[in-house]
Amino acid sequence: MSKPTINIVWIKRDIRSQDHAPLAAADNEDIPYLIIYLFEPEMIAYKDTSLRHLQFQYHALQELNNAFAIHNKKVELLFGNAIDIFRSLLASIQVKNIFSYQESGTPITYHRDILLSELFKESDCTWKEFQRDGVIRAIKNRDGWDEQWKNVMESPLIINSYKNKLPVYFENNFLLPDRLMRALNNYSPRMQPAGEKFAFQYLNSFVRERGVNYSRHISKPTESRTSCGRLSPYISWGNLSIRQVYQYVMNYKNKHSNTFALNNFLTRLHWHCHFIQKFESECMFEFVCVNKVYEDLILTKNAEYIQRWKNATTGYPMVDACMICLKETGWINFRMRAMLVSFFCHHLMQDWRDGVYHLAKLFLDYEPGIHFPQFQMQAGTTGVNTIRIYNPLKQSIEHDPEGVFIKKWLPQLKDVPTEFIHEPHKMSLVEQQQYNLIIGADYPTPVVDIGETGKIARDVYWGIKKSPATKMENKKILAKHVRS
Ligand SMILES: Cc1cc2nc3c(=O)[nH]c(=O)nc-3n(C[C@H](O)[C@H](O)[C@H](O)COP(=O)(O)OP(=O)(O)OC[C@H]3O[C@@H](n4cnc5c(N)ncnc54)[C@H](O)[C@@H]3O)c2cc1C
Repeated sequence: MSKPTINIVWIKRDIRSQDHAPLAAADNEDIPYLIIYLFEPEMIAYKDTSLRHLQFQYHALQELNNAFAIHNKKVELLFGNAIDIFRSLLASIQVKNIFSYQESGTPITYHRDILLSELFKESDCTWKEFQRDGVIRAIKNRDGWDEQWKNVMESPLIINSYKNKLPVYFENNFLLPDRLMRALNNYSPRMQPAGEKFAFQYLNSFVRERGVNYSRHISKPTESRTSCGRLSPYISWGNLSIRQVYQYVMNYKNKHSNTFALNNFLTRLHWHCHFIQKFESECMFEFVCVNKVYEDLILTKNAEYIQRWKNATTGYPMVDACMICLKETGWINFRMRAMLVSFFCHHLMQDWRDGVYHLAKLFLDYEPGIHFPQFQMQAGTTGVNTIRIYNPLKQSIEHDPEGVFIKKWLPQLKDVPTEFIHEPHKMSLVEQQQYNLIIGADYPTPVVDIGETGKIARDVYWGIKKSPATKMENKKILAKHVRS
């Protein structure tokens, strides 16, 4: 008996039902299509992935399946490595096309996709990958990139109609293990709720109400939690396409007066794709410095420093509060992310590679194409960007003057008065007793003296930046990653 012929839509970081090119392509064909999402043990075990990422994906998929129910469609969730799953599927079903978005991932996903391409070729099945969010594969430089990006953003949204009702028969032999299912279901209510429905709620409340103070509060750790878009996890896991967000905001902006804030927001959507484009062209930035001259920097690994940064016990309240907040909620604003990186790389003088995965796992919105280039930019290893050595004390005083954020995430500091909240170690023993915080017992002494470390880091990092070798290398970087 001949095998039935079908198409497959492989959902990756595009967990949504609208403005979805692969789903539209499959829907337009006159054969049935199977929609799949893979939970791959090899990727799950990789050092950039954490349970919260998987939980967000899983709950977004549950919601997608709710939306699909009226169309008699379903995303099948499969557990196994992609190569094994596709090999098995191709052995039992005649697959004409595999439709997916291009993934601008880390080298591990890049190598997996090379193996898959070979398998699909051998099996006479076409893998049609669609461009994602205006990011272009295999470009040599950025000439004309901005214009092309704008064209994509302004082109009509894809209306997915699900008119192809041909039934697909599929027996899932790759069920998710019970243990994993239990863990996936145990999603903390402190994290942002996943899925398309919540994504649109956040988008709507941002443009209508929350965004009014967007620019004013963007660097404030407490206020930014409301005034920022908070769309990042929805964009990173594709509950919204960048084009959907862009057009929604443009539409609103043209009818209302809050243009300054919304323009700032739109600039960041552009940055989002700009960073991913960089990584698409050079995913080895996961491992190597953007400017290779920084590879010559000899740093001494200090396990205690690394642990104290990770465990939020540096003795600098703003640094520790940010880390705890991130652990609990999966989100902090840009400025505080930059400060955490700078503290690690500059004040603790640790190699960015020893901190980058820790934050990747904590960020609910983890997107490799933004994360690695941004981490390196804040670490000061790109050569082309200015080096910012953040003083956590200054950040704390400027952006959390009363210590509201600090006290929320470090409740042991709740009785400490404002004059000491940024530097509790400066209290005398009597004051420590008076304010219920014994330094060294209830809260640690500072791990380093940031006055000294800041100076050393400035000399080291600026010294390399100014060297002729760095400048030479910068020319190559600029030619490839910046528009002329
Ligand atoms: C070390 C470091 C690592 C980061 N890693 C990530 C990451 O893994 N995933 C991620 O989405 N963002 C990352 N960012 C960028 C930025 O901090 C977040 O996008 C932002 O805080 C998300 O909050 P929001 O949705 O409220 O952003 P908004 O201010 O409302 O911005 C709207 C959207 O624009 C994009 N965006 C905003 N700022 C930036 C930026 N500086 N660079 C690129 N895109 C931006 C995001 O998609 C965001 O959702 C990182 C920043 C730093 C310093």
